[in-house]
Amino acid sequence: MQGLYVHLPFCRQKCHYCDFRTVAHGEKRIDAYMEALTRELRFTAQHFHTKEWTTLYLGGGTPSFVPVKKLKIWMDTFYRYYPKVESEVTLEANPEDITKENIREWKSMGINRISIGLQSTDEKMVKKCGRAFISDWKERIRWLREEGILNFSLDLLLALPGQRMQDVEKMTDQILDIKPPHLSVYSLILEEKTYFGYLARQGKLLLPDEDLERNLVHYVTERLKNAGYNHYELSNFALPGYEAIHNSFYWERIPYLGLGLGAASHWEELRWKNSDSLQRYLKLAGTEELWEDKEKIGMVEAMSEALILGLRKIEGVEISRLKNRYDEKIFEEFKRDIRKNIQRGILERHGDRLCLSPKGIDLGDIANRDFFR
Ligand code: SF4
Repeated sequence: MQGLYVHLPFCRQKCHYCDFRTVAHGEKRIDAYMEALTRELRFTAQHFHTKEWTTLYLGGGTPSFVPVKKLKIWMDTFYRYYPKVESEVTLEANPEDITKENIREWKSMGINRISIGLQSTDEKMVKKCGRAFISDWKERIRWLREEGILNFSLDLLLALPGQRMQDVEKMTDQILDIKPPHLSVYSLILEEKTYFGYLARQGKLLLPDEDLERNLVHYVTERLKNAGYNHYELSNFALPGYEAIHNSFYWERIPYLGLGLGAASHWEELRWKNSDSLQRYLKLAGTEELWEDKEKIGMVEAMSEALILGLRKIEGVEISRLKNRYDEKIFEEFKRDIRKNIQRGILERHGDRLCLSPKGIDLGDIANRDFFR
């Protein structure tokens, strides 16, 4: 099993909370970028002896912003090198790009899962984030279903400026009305180098306090669970059978390659990332010179990652599998921290399985910091 991630960094505008490596208003550079991405694809096909990918994930940025004709040319080249993707082919899309025509084109490229950056159903909230609000978003989702794309996900953001409990209650009602098969729910993280970061420094951004933020998360989690969603990862919920396959590769430490600006790769216990300078990317794509921070992952670090990432899954990790895959002696090094976190009520042991307790789930990533090596 292995996954291929392809980064398409173009966005219509820069959202006020976003610090991803994106290129806003960069339409003129799409051609050059897709050409560089083709060089990188060719290099990948020649240097990595993989005949088939289990998953392909087109992430961004806003991949749906890339005109379908240009995307199709790249996908045709992809299929020349790799005639078949075993399971999931995901495209991230913003609601404004979900048109009947685009859906048909995406489908013809083998895309079988759409991850939609909805963020909120509340016009005021979406606009506060510097994003376009698409009032007929429900209809667009209906088009997806009509055209046969039944596997899709909605991204939702909580703890937006000025957001109240009643706003989230209303949004959850609207979301459950359409029952998307998959949801990713995140709380806003205030990043320094964003417009929200700037507003916060000026004292002009009113964000929900920590108690309200937790209440919003608990509320949405309970509503989704009661509606039949499996809360299978800290931020992810799925109806049975719709768990994200590609993303699970990150949590399971299954190898993946990343193509595109700033994309990260993890392959044969090596990791590296592509340069996140657009200029360098356009120049060096298709050569190893593009790779930065290449390093071998030692056994201790591998075990540390396996615990930190694996414990993001609500079902946790199987201890015997960890010992077999890495090294029993190395596992011993983590035993003291595991015991300590069980005593603190953050981890729970159920037979062979180690997982976060409800308190650990609430603390999220913070619960795992003892496992950093
Ligand atoms: S949130 Fe998404 S659409 Fe907005 S700037 Fe970031 S990547 Fe682009």
